Amino acid sequence: MARYQIAVMPGDGIGPDVIHEGVRALRAACDRFPSIDLELETLPAGAGEYLLNGKPLPDSTVERARAADAVLLGAMGLPEVRWPDGTEMAPQVELRFKLDLYAGIRPVKWFPGVPPVLAGKKPKDVDLVVVRESTEGLFASLGAGVVLRNEVAVDQQVITRIGTERVCRAAFEWARRRSAQRGKPGHVTCVDKANIFRSMAFFRQVFNEVAENYPDIGRGYEYVDACAMKLVRQPERFDVLVAENMFGDILSDLAPALAGGLGIAPSADIGDDAAVFQPTHGTAPDIAGRGIANPLATILSAAMMCDWLGDRRQDPDLSAAGRLILGAVESGLAAGSLLGPDLGGERTTSQIGDEVVRLLEAGVADQGIGSKQSASQ
Ligand code: NAD
Repeated sequence: MARYQIAVMPGDGIGPDVIHEGVRALRAACDRFPSIDLELETLPAGAGEYLLNGKPLPDSTVERARAADAVLLGAMGLPEVRWPDGTEMAPQVELRFKLDLYAGIRPVKWFPGVPPVLAGKKPKDVDLVVVRESTEGLFASLGAGVVLRNEVAVDQQVITRIGTERVCRAAFEWARRRSAQRGKPGHVTCVDKANIFRSMAFFRQVFNEVAENYPDIGRGYEYVDACAMKLVRQPERFDVLVAENMFGDILSDLAPALAGGLGIAPSADIGDDAAVFQPTHGTAPDIAGRGIANPLATILSAAMMCDWLGDRRQDPDLSAAGRLILGAVESGLAAGSLLGPDLGGERTTSQIGDEVVRLLEAGVADQGIGSKQSASQ
């Protein structure tokens, strides 16, 4: 029996709703394997937690998360809950710093059955991964920017050799893994603004140094502004993209829009000793409480968690549970039974969750167990 301790942080807004469905799917998939023993612990964090107890990310939550095998997180922050300096509570970003989760992995893939987003583009062309540096860049200024005399405001960008090396290595490793799974050559694009900023020229220099260790993987470069345009016009030219924190943040909202939107965009924030899995989206206050949030991004994040943890603990059953979740989502989307309002359908959050659990229990995705494709796509 393999025991896994999973910390669950529902957070704010639509977070608790999508997490509820993510946990149901996770349990339904893992219940198929008698060898897997899941222990889930729900932990408080978020803007709501700040309003209740004065701290958006309690120390005890960080310690429990650190002790867990992995964290499944909903979304955090509410636009109306702010610090006196005008910034929002962002405990999900703080957690990345505290657990040193330096590689934000955001796979973006079009699933058959999802309505095309761009007129004239074949959606099947979209299959890429944005790797976002998640512990430095402009976000290093979180809580440390300066406003002088109410006239001048400064936030500083921080790029370090060690931070850039490790995120670039993660990008090349991811490309190698995808290449093996897809049977296609791998390629990593360095996205920066090396024409203007020294910090970005340095980022590119370190990227090149790391690339020397991966002669089997192709490499390329894009300035972030042109990259945004090319992602929309020619998504097929990209495999893995690596970028500093802020550029990665922006591109990892833009890219999912090409494949159906934030409602089906999963993510993983990975460090050497810990990992947090969460949908790419935020707390969506505009639809919170209406029961129409798409839980698939969270369900797919749970699948990524099984894949990562299965790999780490060398547990083929857990990896297979991840593939079952992915297979259930793929088959439900293809059959049109998982489309919520964000994808042109009418299914509610709980109806989508019910259908994924039904597909898992019915064994619809069982052929995925033998498949080579991992749940991290
Ligand atoms: P958002 O991702 O919450 O929403 C952007 C748009 O996408 C909205 O129209 C929303 O309705 C839609 N959307 C998002 N998730 C969806 C889903 N599952 N199903 C259907 N539609 C969905 O971004 P925002 O509006 O910029 O931010 C809202 C709040 O979330 C802010 O307080 C922000 O700070 C926070 N935020 C948190 C995270 C996180 O916890 N990782 C990430 C981004 C934003």
